[in-house]
Amino acid sequence: MALVDTSCGAIVFCSSSGHCQLDCSYCIVNPVIKRNPSLTYEDLDFFMRAVGTSVFFIFSGKGDFFAGYSKKERLLGRLLERDVEVALDVNGLLLHEYPELPEAARRKVRHVNLTMHYEQLRRKNARELWAGNARTLVGLHEGLLNLNTILSPLERGTWEESLAFFEREVFGPTGRKLVLVTDCDRPFSDDERAEHDRLRERFAPMIESSYSADFAGAFAGREAVLCPAGQSYFRIWNDGRVEGCPWVGELGGLGNLKERRFEPRPAPFRCTTPRFCDCYDILQLGRMGFEEPAVDAPAAGPLDAVGGPGSPRA
Ligand code: SF4
Repeated sequence: MALVDTSCGAIVFCSSSGHCQLDCSYCIVNPVIKRNPSLTYEDLDFFMRAVGTSVFFIFSGKGDFFAGYSKKERLLGRLLERDVEVALDVNGLLLHEYPELPEAARRKVRHVNLTMHYEQLRRKNARELWAGNARTLVGLHEGLLNLNTILSPLERGTWEESLAFFEREVFGPTGRKLVLVTDCDRPFSDDERAEHDRLRERFAPMIESSYSADFAGAFAGREAVLCPAGQSYFRIWNDGRVEGCPWVGELGGLGNLKERRFEPRPAPFRCTTPRFCDCYDILQLGRMGFEEPAVDAPAAGPLDAVGGPGSPRA
């Protein structure tokens, strides 16, 4: 199953928010982003006009999407009045205008990736708030909704408690299942693997799947790809920077939305290092080009979540 089937002309991985309310021990954004500038509606409006085509915004990255602006700004609601589709990656503490969106606007939210960062919810006394928002999303969302939690060795002491909480507060009332995401930076010890497997068995009815990312594996046997990064695929950051790809130097520096500058590339880029999360996302969205057939390349699996469950992935 393809995650998102979009016909939008431009695909934008947009780290729009300069703030996150949580301080997860396993966060790959170090230090966790706090009170930095966020992209405004006017910044995104400039981009939409400049790129001149429909845009699929994948809002994922450093902070929490809703934490980057206030409810009265109605950033999401205003964007959805434009020729856009949207994917959201959220921690579930804020939903702002989401529950009040008209049905037609909600249909343009093609995917929501909701992560339960249980240890932080416990520490910040926000478990009931999160559970209520999770149930709201389950009830309202018409597109794909991925509920996941990250099992990190750093928080092993609350793995079982977190799953029991989800079972009681979300799975019980709604029947929605949970994806277990493995901490991509900290491989399990044998002991931790055994505990993971035990919990998977104990909570089997509510576990949808276990996930660990293998972005490079999808490109095994490929020497090069023709990548749309910089042409119709972009990365936009909360400070306004626009890049084609954060890992290829010559594809950076395509402008800055806050300075109202944007210069896309005219053609695809021949890339010999397709191994990152962006590469995988582009492949899954059917936008990657190839020069030659792959040699023994494994078929790309389903993209369980835009940007992969358990973001942020910067
Ligand atoms: S590293 Fe990936 S996203 Fe970047 S240019 Fe190469 S294939 Fe495209």
